[in-house]
Amino acid sequence: MTTLPPPTKKKLGLVIDLDICVGCHACAVACKEWNDGGQFGPLPDTEAYGREPRGVWFNRVHSYEVSGIGNRESGIDKSSPALTVHFPRSCLHCETPDCVTVCPTGASYKRAEDGIVLVDEDKCIGCQLCAWACPYGAREFSAERGTMQKCTLCVDRIYNESFDEYDRQPACVMACPTRARHFGDLGDAESPVSKLVAERGGYDLMPEMGYKPVNKYLPPRPRRDATSAKAPPAKEEVDFSKASPLLRWVDRLLSR
Ligand code: SF4
Ligand code: SF4
Ligand code: SF4
Repeated sequence: MTTLPPPTKKKLGLVIDLDICVGCHACAVACKEWNDGGQFGPLPDTEAYGREPRGVWFNRVHSYEVSGIGNRESGIDKSSPALTVHFPRSCLHCETPDCVTVCPTGASYKRAEDGIVLVDEDKCIGCQLCAWACPYGAREFSAERGTMQKCTLCVDRIYNESFDEYDRQPACVMACPTRARHFGDLGDAESPVSKLVAERGGYDLMPEMGYKPVNKYLPPRPRRDATSAKAPPAKEEVDFSKASPLLRWVDRLLSR
């Protein structure tokens, strides 16, 4: 069995905004691209276009239709209109995860310096106990390599001094076209990510499991429904007879 380090001061993680995620999968593809060729790759796929595609994806995006939304504080508002929620899923770098403690070899471990949870492939025997222990389905077993893999929070990017400072962020965060993904230190109450979580009522996924995930999700805001939405403003009539000759000419041209 493997022991966890004492609670880490620095808690690097992601904040994912479910309100503006559009389910484009850019984060999943960027993650795959970076890690496939990087320190933790390759991430092989088999039967990618077959009946039973298999492969290693550190980040997966699921889409659901939900008929009522809310968060753990406000509860679920059943009367709110249905909406589609896109839910990106990857390791949440939990503070007290059993995926580490069940590991018989020490391959699964949590870093004391920043809280990132990693797998040392040289020590992994592929028993998959950690996958059973993860309630979030965030472990990815590579049948080809016979070892466990998972999100590394792009540890080989975020400390990479050959990159400009702005580029020292996880590949998924860099790729997101809607800026639904944020990276930072959730152990620092003054960090932009912690402030965002406080402002938007960010929450833990399945806190009842007691794993204390570091990653946070920001809830989708209620949508307007078509029956209660205000009518659009009446069309404004413009009297072109008083307009300049040029504008009258343009109006005649466009009205043809
Ligand atoms: Fe472990 Fe799963 Fe938590 Fe990641 S999300 S630290 S794999 S329990
Ligand atoms: Fe540890 Fe590897 Fe077994 Fe997971 S699959 S519990 S990392 S030895
Ligand atoms: Fe959502 Fe951004 Fe990922 Fe697209 S890239 S699925 S918008 S989190």
